[in-house]
Amino acid sequence: QGVDFSNISELEVFQEGPARVDPIANFDTAGLHPVMLNNVKLAGYETPTPIQRYCLPAIKMGYDVVAVAQTGSGKTAAYLIPILNALMGKAKKLAAPRPNPAQFVEGVDQAVRAEPLVVIVCPSRELAVQVFSEARKFCYRTMLRPCVIYGGGPAMEQRAQLQKGCDILIASPGRLIDFMDDTRLLSLRRVRYMVIDEADEMLHDDWKTDFDTIMSGGEIEEGNVRYMLFSATFPKQFRDIAKNHLAETHVRLRVGRAG
Ligand code: ADP
Ligand code: MG
Repeated sequence: QGVDFSNISELEVFQEGPARVDPIANFDTAGLHPVMLNNVKLAGYETPTPIQRYCLPAIKMGYDVVAVAQTGSGKTAAYLIPILNALMGKAKKLAAPRPNPAQFVEGVDQAVRAEPLVVIVCPSRELAVQVFSEARKFCYRTMLRPCVIYGGGPAMEQRAQLQKGCDILIASPGRLIDFMDDTRLLSLRRVRYMVIDEADEMLHDDWKTDFDTIMSGGEIEEGNVRYMLFSATFPKQFRDIAKNHLAETHVRLRVGRAG
């Protein structure tokens, strides 16, 4: 909030990884689907921030990404735009089950199991709600349906929302694990992208356990999943998480002297 983009856009981006990522200069030439480009414009984004200039192509190229950039540098859109854009064309093919209107029977439960394509883990309820509101903007006029679940919120309502169908799941770890226990409610078998936002908040011991539970549970097909860590700092413990879960050939992006 209150970001001085004139300053941010001059920050240098450092990259390490298997291939050099060619940064995009603007959103128009980023190869976005017209609907997504329009959503970016509707959000009022005119030029990409430095982390976005590198993240969009890196994710498009299919790499796992670790991105470290200061708060307010636009990390949310840096992963949302390329991930949602990549799924747009495939939404029909990949999409989770939807209630079938042809089979609608008055008074009979239309619930389906949620099988999201993307899971975004957010360590706090505030962040989850914030990411959800960004996701809604970028999902506008796509087939992709975002959902948010978090502890302390109304479990019944969140459950009902999930069962209407969910492609993009934004979740706090506790509630996610809770819901993962009910295999009729939620399965991670279709997940293609797993994002940990504010990952430096997830280094406490109980978070770490949660993290492992999420990664090992819910029928995740490891080989099909791209992992993304986003953070404002780069603590040493990241190396372990990166080693355990990210592809060996992941791209590391760092803006300025963050961390
Ligand atoms: P971070 O996660 O790095 O702290 P956010 O993703 O929350 O940053 O973005 C901070 C603010 O900047 C948000 O209000 C967001 O809508 C806005 N923002 C992000 N990218 C752009 C952009 N390219 N142009 C204009 N505003 C942007
Ligand atoms: Mg953020």
